[in-house]
Amino acid sequence: MDIDALHSALLSIVVLSKKLRSVRENLPVKDGTRSGVAEFLHEVERDLQITKATLAGELGFTLCPRCWPPELVTTDLEGRANCPSCGKACHNGKAPDSKHGNGRFK
Ligand SMILES: [Zn+2]
Repeated sequence: MDIDALHSALLSIVVLSKKLRSVRENLPVKDGTRSGVAEFLHEVERDLQITKATLAGELGFTLCPRCWPPELVTTDLEGRANCPSCGKACHNGKAPDSKHGNGRFK
């Protein structure tokens, strides 16, 4: 299997997921509730996140053990892995240590 094609597919999924979220978040809210279209977009977004996590896992990327669907973990300049979704520090395959650091990574 072509690893570059898989990386390209992963990147496309990430971009598409962000675009869907942007569209969903900008839909009008009526009486404090979102429309059926927003719910549908939310489901599609979630399915894409699961697909992204599955593909990323196959490609060897680190996934956050706290989030569902699993989020891709990013690494800062000092080599610390952080989850952009829950903001917790993550370590390969281990549960993040909640007592580590000051808990703020943004
Ligand atoms: Zn997370």
